[in-house]
Amino acid sequence: MISKKIQSVVRDIYDFPKPGIVFKDVTPIFKDPALCTEIVDAFAEKLAHLDIDVIAGVESRGFLFGLMLANKLNKPFVPVRKPGKLPFSIVTKSYELEYGTATIEIHTDAFAPGSRVFVHDDLLATGGTAAATADLIFELGGTVAGFGFVIALGFLHGEEKLLPFSSNIISLTT
Ligand code: IMP
Repeated sequence: MISKKIQSVVRDIYDFPKPGIVFKDVTPIFKDPALCTEIVDAFAEKLAHLDIDVIAGVESRGFLFGLMLANKLNKPFVPVRKPGKLPFSIVTKSYELEYGTATIEIHTDAFAPGSRVFVHDDLLATGGTAAATADLIFELGGTVAGFGFVIALGFLHGEEKLLPFSSNIISLTT
C-alpha cells in the first residue's frame, strides 16, 4: 500500500530547522523512481473525478510531483514561489508558519479568472502555506478545486484551515 511505502522511506530529522521541530525528510522518495511513479499515479486516480483546469505547486518540493502530475493530466502547471523569484507582475501573501512567518507569490497571469486550481505541496503541517495559496488563487479570480499532499501531519489539524476553500483534501499518507 502506497501510504506504507511512503512512510518506510520518509525519515524524521530531529531539531531541524530549529530545536524542538521534528522534520519529515521526503528526499528519499525521489531516489525511488518506481515509488515516484506510484505517487503520481495515485494522485491522478484520486483527481480523476475532480474538475481541474490548473495545478499549482508550492515551492520547492511542491514543484516536483506538481509538474509530473500536471503533465500526466495534461494540465498547465503554475509555480507558487517564495518572495523575489517570479519575474513578471505578482500577487503576494504573508502568513504564519509552523516555525516563523513566510511569504508566497503567484504571477498575475498564472491562470484565467474562473479557473479551478488544484493546490499541491509535499507536506501539510499547519495548513498556513496551502491556505495562503488558496487566498492568492481567490485574489486572482480562481477557485480551489482541491488540495493534494504526499504527507499530512494529522496532529496539526491543517485540514481545518483548508476546508473553507475546498473539502477535496487528498493526502497519500498521514
Ligand atoms: P504549513 O504551512 O505549516 O502547512 O507547512 C507546510 C509547508 O512547510 C510546506 O511547503 C512544506 O514543504 C513545509 N514543511 C513544514 N514542515 C515540514 C516537514 O516536516 N517536512 C517537509 N516540509 C515541511
